[in-house]
Amino acid sequence: MPRCIYCLQDQTAVSFTKREHVIPVSIGSFLPLYPTLLARDGLVCDICNGEVFSPLEVNFIEDTMEGVYGQRLNLQGRSSVTMRDKNFKIERMAGLGDKFFDEMFFFLKVQDDKVVPHLRDQFKMKRRQGGCRIFLPEALEEIKKNPKDFAKLSADLKKLDQKDMAIFAETREKVDAIIALLNDYGVTYKEKETKGRKFEEGETFVLEENYSCTVNHDVGRVLAKIAFNYFAYCALQSGKTDLLYSSHFDAIRKFAHADVGVLRDIIVSIAEEPILHEEQAKKQRLHAHVINFLPEDGKIFVRMTFFGRPAVYKILLGILPPELASDEFGCGHAFSPFGQQIMQLTQKQPIPQTEDQVRATFGLFNRLLAVN
Ligand SMILES: [Zn+2]
Repeated sequence: MPRCIYCLQDQTAVSFTKREHVIPVSIGSFLPLYPTLLARDGLVCDICNGEVFSPLEVNFIEDTMEGVYGQRLNLQGRSSVTMRDKNFKIERMAGLGDKFFDEMFFFLKVQDDKVVPHLRDQFKMKRRQGGCRIFLPEALEEIKKNPKDFAKLSADLKKLDQKDMAIFAETREKVDAIIALLNDYGVTYKEKETKGRKFEEGETFVLEENYSCTVNHDVGRVLAKIAFNYFAYCALQSGKTDLLYSSHFDAIRKFAHADVGVLRDIIVSIAEEPILHEEQAKKQRLHAHVINFLPEDGKIFVRMTFFGRPAVYKILLGILPPELASDEFGCGHAFSPFGQQIMQLTQKQPIPQTEDQVRATFGLFNRLLAVN
C-alpha cells in the first residue's frame, strides 16, 4: 500500500496523486529521463508534496543563492523573476560603471563554457513584502492574455509608487515599448531619471558581486528533501523501497517534513571542497548539480552542490542499515541544467543514452561505478 516516506501516513489517511521531482524543476530539467517519484510509486503523499514542500521550494527559488541563480539563467523560460531579498542578498561591486545600472537585474547565460552576464530588456518593480520582481517585456505581453494574472499584476502595479519601478532596455524605442505595455496595465510611467550607456563594438565588462545567504531551517529542509528524494529514487531502482521507512532515516524525514530536529545535525557541514577528484585536480568546478552518497562511520551522508557554485553541502541521511553495509553501496550523479543531461559519476564508458539506460544508473549498489 502506498505510504509516504516523509510523514509515514498511508493511503487510508492521505492521497497519492502527484509526482515529486528529485531535483526541483526550478533548478533544471533533464533528458531523456527526469528522475521523479511518481504517483504510482506511492512514496510521497499529496500533503507533503503540495502543502509542505511547495511553499518551501518557492522560498528556496526566491531567496537562496542557488534558487536565484536558477532564475537568472531563466531555466524555466518563465520570463519573470522574483527575489525576496530577505535571506539571499546580492551586493554589486562592479558592473556597468554607474550606480544607476546597479539597480538592473543581470540575467546569466552560458557562453563558451562560462557563465556570463546577459543584459536583457526589463521592467523591475519593488514587492510590497520586500524584494523585487523583474519582467521581460514578453512576460508583460503574456500576462495580458490571462485575465486573472493580469488583474492581479495590474492591481499590484497601481499600488506602487513611481520610485519603486524602473525600466532598463537596449534602446529608446524599447523603453517606450515597455512604457506602452505598462499603460495597458493602467500605469502611467513617468520617467524621473534617464541614463544611457554606449557599448563599443566587442566591449566587455566585469560583473562582480558579493553574495550573502544563510542556510536556515527552510533552506535546510529543501536540501534535506533533495537528499532523501535522491536516496528514495535510488532505492526504487534497486527494488528496496522498504528501507525508506526504517527508523534509521527518521531524523531526516522529520526534519524535512515537520521541521523537527536541529539544523546542524542534518546539514552537518557546508564546505567549498569540490566533490569530484577531477574537479579537485583541475581546480575547476563542473557546471552541474553534483550529488552522491558517502558512507562514513556507520552513517550515510549525501553530498551535493548546485550549478558548480562553491557551497558543497554534507547532509546526514541516516544510520547505515545492515543491508547497505556493503563495499558496493553508493551512487553518484551530475545533473547538468545547461545541457539538460544526467551524467553518472563514473570513469567507465559509454555514457548512457536512452531513458532506460539512464534510469539503470540509479541504485543503491553502484559504488564501483561512482567516482569517490
Ligand atoms: Zn506525507
